[in-house]
Amino acid sequence: MNVQSRIEKSAPAHTEHFDVVIAGAGISGVGAAYHLTTQMRGTSFVVLETQETFGGTWTTHKYPGIRSDSDLHTFGYRFKPWTSAPIATAAEILSYMGEVIEENGLARHIRYRHTIDAASWSSTDKLWTIDATRTDTGEHVRFTTNFFWMCQGYYKHSEGYTPEWPEMASFKGQIVHPQKWPDHLDIKGKRIVVIGSGATAATLVPAIANDAEHVTMLQRSPTWFRTGRNVIEIAEQLRKLQIDETWIHEITRKQILFEQDAFTKRTFRDPEGVKKDLLTAVRAYLGQDFDIATHFTPSYRPWRQRIAFIPDGDLFQSIKSGKSSVVTDEIERFIESGILLKSGKILEADIIVTATGFHLSAQGDIDFSIDGKPLTFADTVTYRGMMFTGVPNLVWVFGYFRASWTLRVDLVADFVCRLLKHMKETGVSQVTPALRPEDHNMPLLPWIDQENFNPGYMMRGMHLLPKRGDKPEWQHNQDYWAEKDEFPKIDLRDRAFVYG
Ligand SMILES: Cc1cc2nc3c(=O)[nH]c(=O)nc-3n(C[C@H](O)[C@H](O)[C@H](O)COP(=O)(O)OP(=O)(O)OC[C@H]3O[C@@H](n4cnc5c(N)ncnc54)[C@H](O)[C@@H]3O)c2cc1C
Repeated sequence: MNVQSRIEKSAPAHTEHFDVVIAGAGISGVGAAYHLTTQMRGTSFVVLETQETFGGTWTTHKYPGIRSDSDLHTFGYRFKPWTSAPIATAAEILSYMGEVIEENGLARHIRYRHTIDAASWSSTDKLWTIDATRTDTGEHVRFTTNFFWMCQGYYKHSEGYTPEWPEMASFKGQIVHPQKWPDHLDIKGKRIVVIGSGATAATLVPAIANDAEHVTMLQRSPTWFRTGRNVIEIAEQLRKLQIDETWIHEITRKQILFEQDAFTKRTFRDPEGVKKDLLTAVRAYLGQDFDIATHFTPSYRPWRQRIAFIPDGDLFQSIKSGKSSVVTDEIERFIESGILLKSGKILEADIIVTATGFHLSAQGDIDFSIDGKPLTFADTVTYRGMMFTGVPNLVWVFGYFRASWTLRVDLVADFVCRLLKHMKETGVSQVTPALRPEDHNMPLLPWIDQENFNPGYMMRGMHLLPKRGDKPEWQHNQDYWAEKDEFPKIDLRDRAFVYG
């Protein structure tokens, strides 16, 4: 039964109205709720979340060792100090988010087990109608709202991405995707092959290597990694001086952002120098004799894909100890006992873990329509990676790749609150981005420039994403350092905003 027929069959008993509806209770949705509560007192809002609890990514992923790959001073919100080691486990991140919810009375605004199926805009009523299904009762519930704040992330939470390899079904062992890690998977004494070498594989391999008989990280091509101690010196130093945690958070954020900016610029200016530094750090763990050229030297420029941070080099330590190993080769086909590689080599396995990424889900699998006409987001042009031409009263939070996602959660929230205040002050109830006369000959390009950034899930799903123009207003430029200054200055009277 498709969504539309499900909705038609069970009309809701009643409709609730909120000034704002927020989709999702991950780091973005909880941040949005906090900012509405503090910056827009008196605004009625509800957060609709399909899962049983908050956390999003940090609730969905339960594989061993799950942790952040960026520091929590910047992955944490600007308004709540992070007081532990910078790279954090999912449990620590959930505990931090729980405190944000508790300290700000946000729980009463969140409705769990509510899956948003459809959102339709009426220009007559100037309202979104949001249809959702309660996953516990199957009941269809309906909300209307003036403003829809999409914090549903960018990938399908229900399943991960596993490519189709020849003869997968012939494998007699177990195939597991990290996004669906079984509760009681017994890895003791097992031979495990982890396919992939992104952040997930790099986290998982050392986390399971001690219990397993052996773990092999099988990659088609290598990934860039950064490594170092899981501490931020300046935070430790200030803590010793008993400086207030609010100050430590602020200063540490500034320091990290300064260094990240310098590092990112250097990857463009001096890619060879950056490569050399990254490889020197890897070699320090693995030794001179290890074949770093084959296994840890990617062909792409650093930062064209996210660079995972490996705290204390745990992946490399695990490889050095012999508990795990890395193989760079291609899969010919699956066989009963494991994987046959193109080189002719066989990797014997009891368990194969496909750490092969996500399914992009641009709009949370929600059926959108405007005045009865289905909306295809790929036909729209994005206003600064958060609003879309022809789509009224809607913002999507899509964070940064090269900096922590949450930096943008705070920036977008400031913008939304300013926009909502502006609309109230000027007595309008609709804002729709539109290309201005000077934008009409602007070339329309894919959401992201793949020369700049090209992870697999983005490349696979690019056709689903809105278009970008070649002016700052009409793209998500992935540059926190520019946006932190530009966003507060966005002119709300610009002709890119059509009010009504
Ligand atoms: C394993 C992993 C590690 C990562 N580590 C980092 C990191 O260290 N630093 C970093 O910056 N980024 C990291 N990322 C990227 C990360 O996803 C984002 O940084 C961030 O967690 C996204 O938060 P979000 O709230 O926008 O989306 P999500 O965390 O995806 O949460 C979205 C929520 O919306 C809900 N939802 C979706 N659709 C609907 C619907 N139709 N109805 C109701 N609810 C819905 C989902 O159930 C989910 O709870 C990581 C990603 C993964 C997968």
